[in-house]
Amino acid sequence: AVRLFSLLIGRMMQEAGPPGWTSTACLRHYKMLVVGGGSGGISMSARMKRMLGAENVAVVEPSEMHYYQPIWTLVGAGAKTLTSSGRSTASVMPSGVKWVKSKVQEINPDTNTVRTDDGNEISYEYLIVALGLQLHFEKIKGLPEGFEHPKIGSNYSVQTVEKTWKALQDFKEGNAVFTFPNTPVKCAGAPQKIMYLSDAFLRKTGKRAKANIIYNTSLPVLFGIKKYADSLWDIVKQRDLQVNLRQNLIEVRADKQEAVFENLDKPGETKVLEYEMLHVTPPMGPNLVVQGSPLADEAGWLDVNKDNLQHKRYPNVFGIGDCTNLPTAKTGAAVAAQTAILNSTISKVLKNEKPDKIYDGYTSCPLVTSYNTVILAEFDYNGQPLETFPINQAKERRTMYHMKADVMPHLYWHGLLRGLWGGPGPYRKLFHLGMK
Ligand SMILES: Cc1cc2nc3c(=O)[nH]c(=O)nc-3n(C[C@H](O)[C@H](O)[C@H](O)COP(=O)(O)OP(=O)(O)OC[C@H]3O[C@@H](n4cnc5c(N)ncnc54)[C@H](O)[C@@H]3O)c2cc1C
Repeated sequence: AVRLFSLLIGRMMQEAGPPGWTSTACLRHYKMLVVGGGSGGISMSARMKRMLGAENVAVVEPSEMHYYQPIWTLVGAGAKTLTSSGRSTASVMPSGVKWVKSKVQEINPDTNTVRTDDGNEISYEYLIVALGLQLHFEKIKGLPEGFEHPKIGSNYSVQTVEKTWKALQDFKEGNAVFTFPNTPVKCAGAPQKIMYLSDAFLRKTGKRAKANIIYNTSLPVLFGIKKYADSLWDIVKQRDLQVNLRQNLIEVRADKQEAVFENLDKPGETKVLEYEMLHVTPPMGPNLVVQGSPLADEAGWLDVNKDNLQHKRYPNVFGIGDCTNLPTAKTGAAVAAQTAILNSTISKVLKNEKPDKIYDGYTSCPLVTSYNTVILAEFDYNGQPLETFPINQAKERRTMYHMKADVMPHLYWHGLLRGLWGGPGPYRKLFHLGMK
């Protein structure tokens, strides 16, 4: 009853806002302000609530829905539903933490303020930037309007992921084309995971003999970490998948089902491919609010210390996840490991002590290679494998598929977002008897 009563009071105060707050333009102040309520933002707000008390924490996030993006790979292949990937933002927001349902328009770290799109200003003592990255479909001629046509989809956005599954189901015969853009991306494995799943689906439905499966990537490699790339090259050879390196999608003529690629090694040389199915991974870039602020590095990413995630020039600002310039692969798994480091950094800074926990760049990519197999890539800043289990993870395994499809979503909703999961580091130590 006491808990229920305090919950009720908390809710009422949350609705009313802090003392002195009215709904017109005004200044609100929080000890800890989190901008962005995605994977990094929600998990850090849960941790900050524990550290500082809910009343001292606010999250600025405009979206009504929160999505577990990694499962979109399986949604695009029809193995999970889109509905299963989302929950309301209200339900994942730690109770008592103030949710400011607006979009950040400007961050001014010199005055410790943030301005939102409804004209309000919020001031902070400490700021965590967790704004994610920006998708740029519009940088490909013919997109995003091309998505109004059939035969084309993208697992990278909530609006287009189900179109991938539709295009796959409607496939009759011809080219199934998968792309990787000429920019940094989140989850660098996802552009090819959907190719392996499509191959498996077309085999299952007896259409594979009528399909040319083509992976056109801007990269000079199939995957950045050699140990896993070697296994993936074996798979593409065995399954007769055509991989073309240094090919960048620049235009989609969706009415004619044509995709235009430039050869990055021969400027000016382009190639037109007819498609029966096209999966687009869009170009990506820094979050525009970060890019337009003094917090950005030259390329536009949030400029943080790679060891402790504290901003390099503004010591009361911290960053996490896809918006940062941390030199590791951008994934939710990386976010999980970063939450534990950032928690420790902030607790030290609050005590005027030097941060001492160091992030090793841990990141992970479950490379889905069929409807029941996964290669679980895990590695660090140096591109060295940092595997959790004492087995060779470069091998395709059923157990790892279950990890990806069933265990990880659970860990996300009930562990990471509640600030209780800081990555598999402790388990890795245990499984390797303290040797890793
Ligand atoms: C198809 C796909 C497959 C993936 N597969 C995997 C995988 O297998 N494993 C894995 O670990 N990771 C995977 N990822 C990557 C993972 O989802 C991201 O790396 C992770 O979500 C990053 O968390 P984040 O908090 O940095 O950004 P996000 O979770 O994207 O959150 C950013 C938040 O900021 C908000 N925001 C943006 N602009 C503003 C603004 N101006 N004001 C206020 N709020 C704003 C957004 O609404 C959003 O809620 C995948 C992603 C995709 C799309």
